[in-house]
Amino acid sequence: MRLTQPLPPNSTIGILGGGQLGRMLALAGARLGLKSHIFAPEPDSPAFQVAAARTIASYQDLKALEEFAKSVDAVTYEFENVPGETAGFLETRTMLAPSARILQIAQDRLAEKHFLREQGIAVAPFAAVDDETSLHQAIEKIGRPAILKTRRFGYDGKGQFKIGTLAKPDAAWAEIGKVPAILEGFVDFDKEISVIAARGWDGRAVVYDVPENEHRNHILYRSVVPATIPSTVEKKARDIAIAIASGLDYAGVIGVEMFVAGNEVLVNEIAPRVHNSGHWTIDACYISQFEQHMRAVAGWPLGEPVRHSDVTMTNLLGDDIAHWRKLAAEPGALLHLYGKAEARQGRKMGHVNRLTPRQG
Ligand code: AMP
Repeated sequence: MRLTQPLPPNSTIGILGGGQLGRMLALAGARLGLKSHIFAPEPDSPAFQVAAARTIASYQDLKALEEFAKSVDAVTYEFENVPGETAGFLETRTMLAPSARILQIAQDRLAEKHFLREQGIAVAPFAAVDDETSLHQAIEKIGRPAILKTRRFGYDGKGQFKIGTLAKPDAAWAEIGKVPAILEGFVDFDKEISVIAARGWDGRAVVYDVPENEHRNHILYRSVVPATIPSTVEKKARDIAIAIASGLDYAGVIGVEMFVAGNEVLVNEIAPRVHNSGHWTIDACYISQFEQHMRAVAGWPLGEPVRHSDVTMTNLLGDDIAHWRKLAAEPGALLHLYGKAEARQGRKMGHVNRLTPRQG
């Protein structure tokens, strides 16, 4: 289903997934008088704490999904691993944004790479791997070093294995669990950046300034805005994100992760949702990525993505949250905590945005 008219204030947006992204979406929606109904299987989902309604049920529970669809005016999601059947089921009953087709592409690294290539967008060399024979053929074709990645369910470096000059390919295949995969050429990048863009039902797209991202142990550690990249590279990155959003006939916020190598920009991955490297927009912009997404899903006009400050966003992972008092007292530091009870290692517990006056 598609929206023909904007949803009025007091409408309810259904959100699949109850993590910090769902929580920040619900908070941003509340500012606009849009209610959120969170659907998640975990009873202690952080987003429940700030939402108007909740459903605790499995994503496969068709009865619960039916009720959910009836109780909301549109549905979106905060994670890309929503089962395809769930998205398809909801799409026939209510408005789903981004669409089930987009989810299908973004859930499968091979489909994603093919889509990008068809759009004429640069990506690392890649080949499909379905067994040991095709892995050996892929290494012949792509060379080493390369990275073997599962086609599905990979995030924060999970389901990935680097095949260096000496590594045994069969060990890599066993390591990722012998599941359908792709082999990607290793990109000797200078920087990792991402582009956070939003596109409305009317096709209008806006793009935020580009953050430069630093990962530690494959998890985003820090995003710095603006990125220290030439303006030609920044323009290329923005244009790529817009081309992807239009190519997908996208509605909502999209995060596009990219590598910068010299003057070249290669797309690593598309996230069909709000993105961790866009959390700085809450404090450094007048309209955050979360508000932008709720606007897009509700068919409202998008806001201007104006950034008023320079900013560094740092994730608080696991025990980092123990420093909350110090961070709360730090001048210029804007603290966001996600309301998670247990600080497991590497778990995203919150983030802090540090603002400085905008230079240029
Ligand atoms: P991903 O799960 O695809 O986002 O990958 C996680 C991280 O692994 C990226 O942010 C990069 O730091 C690194 N990485 C992934 N793919 C490549 C590649 N083809 N070449 C070099 N580094 C990569």
